[in-house]
Amino acid sequence: DQASKLNQLLEDHSLDLDANHKGFVSIVGAGPHDPDLLTVKAVKAIMSAEVLLYDRLVNKDILELASPQADWIYVGKRCGQPSIGQEEICDLMVSLAQQGKRVVRLKGGDPFVFGRGGEEALALVKHSIAYEVIPGITAAIGCSANSLIPLTHRGVARSVTFVTGQVVTGAFEAWSQLMQSGQTLVFYMGLEKSSQIQTSLIGSGLREDFPVAIITHGCSPQQQVHVTQLNQLNDLSITLKGVSPALIVMGEVVKLREQLIETVQSVTEYEGI
Ligand code: SAH
Repeated sequence: DQASKLNQLLEDHSLDLDANHKGFVSIVGAGPHDPDLLTVKAVKAIMSAEVLLYDRLVNKDILELASPQADWIYVGKRCGQPSIGQEEICDLMVSLAQQGKRVVRLKGGDPFVFGRGGEEALALVKHSIAYEVIPGITAAIGCSANSLIPLTHRGVARSVTFVTGQVVTGAFEAWSQLMQSGQTLVFYMGLEKSSQIQTSLIGSGLREDFPVAIITHGCSPQQQVHVTQLNQLNDLSITLKGVSPALIVMGEVVKLREQLIETVQSVTEYEGI
């Protein structure tokens, strides 16, 4: 059956690993919160890890998949304390690998989508350390499915762009035009910049009632989907008081949710929908 097949896969994988005594780093995408959204490859890597370096957005239930002997090291932001710098994380990863450890670097979502996975991989290359990158479901993909907002939809949206709200000088003119011609825009880390996003997009000619959704704690039991329109984006984010993590999805596709939600089977499991 499926379970024994998976076990077999995992056993085969750990045999491979025993033959490899050198340090090795897996940069692993942990997906958006829900452990069921991990890839099988990510699960295998986590189960074979000796040390796990993990970020703030990684669900603790995912760490529990590791062997009881594995060490967990938190390298995310700390409340009220300066967070560990990127350089320190790279140094730590390099030094653990040089000690011959099997290191899993667990990152929320996908390592190569606003995750600095590329920088960490470059640090490993610089020190000639063997590594792999295992993809994860990025927040936009997980949240769109879980909130029933298709990112593209025939006749509604033909392309989708993922952007970070942290960039102060965004391409607002270009985004407005693209959205008017049927594009979906997803902002990561955009909530604190809501006021600027709203003003700049309306200033670049996007309609005030352009559809917007904010998805908070996506793919977790606390997930909430707030549907609004562009001229109310900032007011809504003030009400949300900086809740994190949150994703902003903009586009006509947001309106599809109302129909898609009607017969969704697991609707009662989607708490907060
Ligand atoms: N590498 C990650 C993104 C890291 S940046 C990925 O691929 O998903 C962190 C931002 O991602 C957050 O500020 C938020 O905008 C978004 N995010 C991550 N997880 C999320 C979740 N479960 N729900 C909503 N947004 C999320």
